[in-house]
Amino acid sequence: MRKRFLPIIMTVLMVLTFCISPMTMQTGAAENSTIYTIQDIRNLQDFLLAKPTEEDLSGKPYDLNDDGRWDVFDLCLMKRAYLSERSAYAPPFDLEKGTVTLNSGYEMPILGIGTYMLSTAQAEDSVYWALRDGYRLIDTARIYGNETGVGKGIQRAIDEGICTREEIFVTTKMWTADYSNGENAIQASLDRLGLDYIDLMILHHSQPSNDVAAYQAMEQAVEEGKLRSIGLSNYYEPEDFDRLANATSIIPALLQNETHPYHQSGLMKTHIAQYGTVMESWYPLGGRGHTATLFGDETISAIAEAHGKTSAQVILRWHLQSGHIAIPGSSNEAHIQENFEIFDFSLTDAEMQQIAALEKDERFSTY
Ligand code: NAD
Repeated sequence: MRKRFLPIIMTVLMVLTFCISPMTMQTGAAENSTIYTIQDIRNLQDFLLAKPTEEDLSGKPYDLNDDGRWDVFDLCLMKRAYLSERSAYAPPFDLEKGTVTLNSGYEMPILGIGTYMLSTAQAEDSVYWALRDGYRLIDTARIYGNETGVGKGIQRAIDEGICTREEIFVTTKMWTADYSNGENAIQASLDRLGLDYIDLMILHHSQPSNDVAAYQAMEQAVEEGKLRSIGLSNYYEPEDFDRLANATSIIPALLQNETHPYHQSGLMKTHIAQYGTVMESWYPLGGRGHTATLFGDETISAIAEAHGKTSAQVILRWHLQSGHIAIPGSSNEAHIQENFEIFDFSLTDAEMQQIAALEKDERFSTY
């Protein structure tokens, strides 16, 4: 139970660090060259939460400000040292341009088309329509069985001069069954997509038995120029994200998790921001079979009416203003167009708060 609150405590302490540091901290100690990990921070937090006795409190390696104690100021200094080693804080979205610069240095569109449950033929048409309508981000996965269709849709748009390869951003996912042979999985996705490189590849699910090896295969592919950015999907516990991040070298650029107004992913979003990692929403509209629940929500419907927009557009705009990349899925030409028409209005702070208040911590998917 206590662990659930650790990220919140960490965040409060992080804020504290920046508020009180000029008055209370020894700058020399803050420049300590020791590299601290999330585990060090946990150790010190656990120590402090265990209400240490006087005899525990001197001469320990975590005494960063050399005052003979392990205390909250050491924790603040450790946190600051940790953050300065990381890219720290999720990068801001450019809502005018519709992009975010990932911690990998690559620019990524913040609104894209999802292709879950689309056949190869549907994926081809949907991707083509999306690119024609202005989308530049496409999300697929090896397990969707439609990477070939996605590749064809991209090629059709390029052949017609709608966009160039460099202008688009393609995401695919490595499936869990392929984790022990990541190198082949990456090449197979490249071949099916018909691409020389993939903009972003993510591990589809946490799988502690071999996801580190799979991630390392993606790191190798980044070295080789086959992948540009790499990230994760379906990691729902901060500890699980840290496990992977601490065992690998490249910080995940993005985490794709089920996220929508009834499951806003606040805890994970705050946690991954420490790594400069961005949240991406799957099931942004609630997913097949659940969209009616969100579309019919009284608050969302009322906001939609006030703006002369649909509930889908309001929800998607909420994602972007909340700092979530959104990838609504559809094979319907009109819906695809509708879902992209969200850059001509914005939600007020009050409306954002009303939607924030809808949080129920309720996932629609069972995995
Ligand atoms: P979604 O929330 O995007 O909802 C899709 C449903 O909404 C479909 O039934 C679609 O017909 C309907 N819809 C879309 N736009 C509409 C509109 N304007 N009006 C009315 N209905 C509309 O769910 P999704 O497609 O499952 O998720 C989005 C994408 O996220 C997927 O396509 C896929 O690319 C990705 N995804 C990833 C994972 C993962 O495990 N990483 C899981 C599921 C989905």
